[in-house]
Amino acid sequence: MLNRVDVTEKHLKDYWPIVGERVIEEILSLAKPLRGAHVLHVNSTSFGGGVAEILHTLVPLMRDVGLNAEWQVIKGKDEFFNVTKAMHNGLQGMSIPFTDEMMDIWKHYNRLNAKNLEGEYDFIVVHDPQPAGLLHFTGGENGKWWIWRCHIDTSNPNADFWNFLAPYIAEYPSLIFTMRQYIGPGIPEERVHLIAPTIDPLSPKNVPMPLEEAHSIVSRYGFDPRNRLMVQVSRFDPWKDPLGVIDCYRKMKHEVPKLQLALVGSMAADDPEGWDYYDRTVRHAGEDYDIRILHNFHGVGNREVNAFQTAADVVVQKSLREGFGLVVTEALWKGKPVVGSNVGGIPLQIINGETGFLVESVEECAGKALFLLQNPDVSKRMGEAARERVRRNYLSTRHLADYLKLFGSLIS
Ligand code: UDP
Repeated sequence: MLNRVDVTEKHLKDYWPIVGERVIEEILSLAKPLRGAHVLHVNSTSFGGGVAEILHTLVPLMRDVGLNAEWQVIKGKDEFFNVTKAMHNGLQGMSIPFTDEMMDIWKHYNRLNAKNLEGEYDFIVVHDPQPAGLLHFTGGENGKWWIWRCHIDTSNPNADFWNFLAPYIAEYPSLIFTMRQYIGPGIPEERVHLIAPTIDPLSPKNVPMPLEEAHSIVSRYGFDPRNRLMVQVSRFDPWKDPLGVIDCYRKMKHEVPKLQLALVGSMAADDPEGWDYYDRTVRHAGEDYDIRILHNFHGVGNREVNAFQTAADVVVQKSLREGFGLVVTEALWKGKPVVGSNVGGIPLQIINGETGFLVESVEECAGKALFLLQNPDVSKRMGEAARERVRRNYLSTRHLADYLKLFGSLIS
């Protein structure tokens, strides 16, 4: 048995005031032929990072529309998660070695987890590279339809990592990528479905929060609500470039001397690099107490993330690679235009000059963030367009509908 994740109940009808009747009815009719279907989602962590965030909503909504959906997390020791983090980095293009020993560790834990996978399912959705060997090592016994879902930016992978993983993922009869550019060599395109991630507008992280409440929460962490606040919410990970965000802030500080910077990140259970990178970020910030670097051990949970995104005068996402970037969606949904790097899934969300700005460098990031700080009317207007774009494209109901369409097409 893998580790089963408990999820709280959610009800599709509660989304009606946000997305409208047509969307709800379409979902109900897509779900009808799938009632009672057994669905298993498998990934490597129930907390921290975008996949966990998505499954905490998608699984209960699948249940609410009549599917028998569950979520299980694979087991592994540090040696496994060190390898899978290296794979994550390698697949996003980092130049690092991939040794035979690392490959053996990945295979060993995938074999073990395959042995522990119990039950019979109609659909098994395996998320990301960590458990990608499950289909191979079970021989496909437990599921009628297997789907591999890639959440990372594999547009420019280190070939050693891609060539190792590709044969395992090519065994899946269906694959989901966020963008066409992420489909690497060896993957038959006709089996690929393009589905972008989404956020839950009703989660404590995304429900509307009064500004006074947001200010009161951020002031508990030492921020002065009278001064301007720049925010990046992200795991402490080289691809999220928190050091680059500090460099941007320093360039802006000459123009806005009281500017404050919040770097907010959670420590995901499957991310052993988090603490090291957190230390590097703290060192880079040095003695500047207008920069505060916080994570879940400081009590920063969903409500606090909501507060930082709501209280922010400007939100940045200076990633160097980004599968999609739910944090961008979350900020856009709160009516904040985002200054984000022109990488991965960020340009899907930021329409340059309309819902935020796409940038290529520290200088450009600082310039656009300053522009938004100095032009609150423009910022407000762009924020309204941003929220509407998320409402139409990036809310959980759309994600649910896409999965139901995919399942429906497989059974027919
Ligand atoms: N997150 C959080 N607390 C933090 C930092 C991140 O809850 O301190 C959440 C964030 O709100 C988002 C998810 O973790 O929902 C990160 O997803 P994203 O797609 O942005 O990046 P990933 O971590 O999957 O690379």
